[in-house]
Amino acid sequence: MRLQDKVALITGASSGIGRETALLFAAEGASIVVVDVNDAAGKETVEMIKAQGGKAVYAHADVSKAADCENMVNVAEKEFGKLNVMFNNAGIMHGDDDNAMTTEESVWDLTMAINLKGVFLGCKYGIPALQRAGGGSIINTASFVAVMGAATPQIAYTASKGGVLAMTRELAIIHARQNIRVNAICPGPLRTELLMKFLNTEAKKQRRMVHIPVGRFGEAKEIAYAALYLASDESSFVTGTDFMVDGGISAAYVTPE
Ligand code: NAD
Repeated sequence: MRLQDKVALITGASSGIGRETALLFAAEGASIVVVDVNDAAGKETVEMIKAQGGKAVYAHADVSKAADCENMVNVAEKEFGKLNVMFNNAGIMHGDDDNAMTTEESVWDLTMAINLKGVFLGCKYGIPALQRAGGGSIINTASFVAVMGAATPQIAYTASKGGVLAMTRELAIIHARQNIRVNAICPGPLRTELLMKFLNTEAKKQRRMVHIPVGRFGEAKEIAYAALYLASDESSFVTGTDFMVDGGISAAYVTPE
């Protein structure tokens, strides 16, 4: 198994990418700390892992709160004795996130607090635990919008993901000699609740789809497999990357008919 005897903490694991990754990592031998603010769905993820023969516990944490992040890392060490993999994945896409003129300051602040500060806090408390374990892998969920602009704006979301990518690079360099690798995954548009709620009409969905060379939205599972590679020792020489898992969007100038 690719993650035998490892302990992984996954934020936003009640749904979407986080849940799929939790199930996959557990199937590959890791013990999982399922973290979210949606307690009912988070506990459901734990039950799903147990049903497939894996090990998992749930820890409630709002990643924008320092005390919650400190606690989730404590849960990993208390329950499973160590932390090897930290997947800072929780994020929001606010329905009122628009252009600079129309976006409320409160929407900007909330988006930054969860999407960007949440990754910082995960690292603030996660890195000492990884050091205690002799090293490990941090994976941060950014987005393809961290490297590309769109005419249908989500200014706060885009800025937050750009910050995640920049922070990932710096963390990777700072901790490179400590056997801690730090990588970002940049998913393209996925058929998860987060995006489907935002693209709430068929016209909005089609407007996005024309820009995806492979001609479809991605699946959360396709991101989970990328995370599995970055979490495992197979990626031992990979750090500081912006791993694009985007159906070709960032490589395209004109998409196929
Ligand atoms: P999702 O909405 O299915 O899952 C996100 C999870 O994060 C939810 O379970 C939610 O309860 C949790 N969450 C929200 N705020 C939280 C907080 N403050 N503390 C802890 N947990 C919190 O969405 P997803 O598509 O699986 O998104 C996961 C990550 O992928 C996000 O960072 C998102 O920005 C990113 N992403 C998604 C897409 C996409 O198309 N869906 C594309 C690029 C990047």
